[in-house]
Amino acid sequence: MLGRDISYENLLDQLNDGVFFLDPNQIITYWNRGAERISGHSREEVIGAVCRANFLGHVDRDGNPVFGAESPGALCLKDGQIREEELYIRHKNGQLIPVFTRISPIENTLQEVIGVMEVFTDNTSKVAAMRRIEELEELALICPVTQVGNRRYAELALANAFEELKRYDWAFGALFVDIDVFKRVNDAYGHKTGDDVLRMVALALKSSLRAFDFVGRWGGEEFLVILPNINDEVLARVAERCRAVVEESRYQCAGNEVRVTVSIGASIARPDEGPTELIDRVDQLMYRSKESGRNRVTLDT
Ligand code: GH3
Ligand code: MG
Ligand code: MG
Repeated sequence: MLGRDISYENLLDQLNDGVFFLDPNQIITYWNRGAERISGHSREEVIGAVCRANFLGHVDRDGNPVFGAESPGALCLKDGQIREEELYIRHKNGQLIPVFTRISPIENTLQEVIGVMEVFTDNTSKVAAMRRIEELEELALICPVTQVGNRRYAELALANAFEELKRYDWAFGALFVDIDVFKRVNDAYGHKTGDDVLRMVALALKSSLRAFDFVGRWGGEEFLVILPNINDEVLARVAERCRAVVEESRYQCAGNEVRVTVSIGASIARPDEGPTELIDRVDQLMYRSKESGRNRVTLDT
């Protein structure tokens, strides 16, 4: 329950995001703990400081400094428009930190702009992930339709996993995932919607996996998942989660709700086999899932 002594300032301090307020003269009047953490500047250092002086060192994504009348805060004070931008701010230690910022006007009851609020989120991991995707696309390892690894990347990842298994005894598992009666989706809604559904399935798989797992598109409506550092129990759990998350996903298209399921074959790799043998085994296990009714996982136990 909100007590008398809990102010919005205490609440804003609970956020991971940085939050600050500017008055009409661009003087900083509030600075939360998140802003302290992301920027390295303490509240004492910045309250009362003029943002115009650009001590935060906003820099746009092309590396150009943005400050003074051109800064998003100054523009928002002038026109009252909400702005969302990807920028860098300069950490106290000099480093540029990628942030996503949202700047919105604070209005009085007459709807006059009396300040702005800026919320910024540390974007480092997202920017790193995007950059990685760009690099991999350049190397032609990402499937442009689904944004997961393509066949070539999947083969490299599989060869790499076998290397590690043989050299260091690092166990890994593989899932072979095939969309059920996918031809019907194309027949009913067209190829473009089919592609959108492929993307939805790829995303559902990615979101069901651990950060270091790999998912790649093996063929038309087939995906290969590689799960390093795994045992039977975790393999079964992750495979079942993939199946269930796909089943619960929906694609909205012209008033229709498209849903699909997947059949999965799952196994831990054996030290005495190679990529071809493992793929054959998980493919056959996947077919056992098809034969026993689809929308299920078959493990080789
Ligand atoms: P099953 O449950 O037995 O797997 O049935 P299925 O219809 O999924 O299997 P089948 O192998 O007969 O058909 C696969 C279909 O996947 C055929 C093709 O139209 C579709 N497909 C393959 N690649 C793509 C693609 O890149 N985009 C779209 N939209 N469809 C694709
Ligand atoms: Mg297939
Ligand atoms: Mg299929």
